[in-house]
Amino acid sequence: MNFETLKKKDKKYLLNNYAKFDVAIVKGQGATLYDYDGKEYIDFGSGIGVNSFGANDLVWKKAIISQIKKIQHTCNLYYNEPQVKLASLLSKKTGCKKVFFCNSGAEANEGAIKCARKYSFDKYGENRYEIITLKNSFHGRTMATLSATGQEEMHKYFSPFSEGFVYVKANDIENFYKSVTKKTCAVMLEIIQGESGVINLDEEYITKVAEYCKLKDILLIIDEVQTGNGRTGKLYSYMNYNLSPDIVTTAKGLAGGMPIGAVLFFKKTENTLSTGTHGSTFGGNPVCAAAAYSVLKRLDDFFLEEVKQKSDYIKNALLSMKKVKSVTGMGLMLGIETDLDAKEAAKSLIGKGLLVLTAKNKIRLLPPLNITKEEIDIGLSKLKEVLD
Ligand SMILES: *Cc1c(COP(=O)(O)O)cnc(C)c1O
Repeated sequence: MNFETLKKKDKKYLLNNYAKFDVAIVKGQGATLYDYDGKEYIDFGSGIGVNSFGANDLVWKKAIISQIKKIQHTCNLYYNEPQVKLASLLSKKTGCKKVFFCNSGAEANEGAIKCARKYSFDKYGENRYEIITLKNSFHGRTMATLSATGQEEMHKYFSPFSEGFVYVKANDIENFYKSVTKKTCAVMLEIIQGESGVINLDEEYITKVAEYCKLKDILLIIDEVQTGNGRTGKLYSYMNYNLSPDIVTTAKGLAGGMPIGAVLFFKKTENTLSTGTHGSTFGGNPVCAAAAYSVLKRLDDFFLEEVKQKSDYIKNALLSMKKVKSVTGMGLMLGIETDLDAKEAAKSLIGKGLLVLTAKNKIRLLPPLNITKEEIDIGLSKLKEVLD
């Protein structure tokens, strides 16, 4: 099939729910990718923060192939070694007590929401179910996570939405204190709001929210779906601050391109979702779990330090470009503020062979974590053509 036929058939047979860029990637190596015509791209998007080690990574491939040669799926009523290895590594690296595996970010957040509600039900009875989230947040596309998402424009068409979510203004601690009621059971937030424009929360704000939660036995849920798994230069973005969350959710980059989501439960919540209260048929699939284990094992301090160095290097280069007004984010999750229309700039960059993303009015960069200095330099030279 050539590219033109592909596009035609895509429009005809696939749901037209995505605003697609004019590109189809067929293969690659690391952060260097190729389309149908053999045109080369530098990847500053990693499939929206998914391909943590880029394309065709040897270690990652080996982990998948060796598991797939044994068995592809068993079921969650049987014991499963790849899951156990992954969960114990997550526990060792974060201090979490228990892990639940699922298939996506939204599904991980669903698990966290259920856990928070049940924790409160078990301890305080009915009517303590409200979850505070932030305006401008993004937590997923399912009904409950869409309800949790604090963006009015996303609360159209699909009423009735799930009850029990309260939205507060990010970085406004008084607004947060005022919004806590007897009904509040949890707070859910992203340390850096990804989809909404790569917006960092203030450290002081997060710390105060966390302290207040502890005081009131309100669970702190951190959505690390995008910020997790080394993305910000720490294993999880909350580790950039002195925080101890009760629940952490993650997905995107965890298995380097295989579908998996995880909910990490810390001390308060380790026994809340008891036998029969939650599940997922595909959750923690052995192939995905083996891939995730291979990714997680490599995210050590040395590697994460390199992520930070690459981040500083890219940020400094961007800030020297004339049309760059500011750079937000952390690690290899960066947002570029510019007067240009972000979507148009992204299209033009893709035309020049650089895959970037957008988030609201920003150009968003999420390169593979193992991107090389050479690949970064090629990418930056293309950004310079548009932003300088
Ligand atoms: C992408 C994302 C989600 C949703 O993840 P899916 O795998 O698409 O369901 C949830 N929260 C955040 C912060 C995300 O970036």
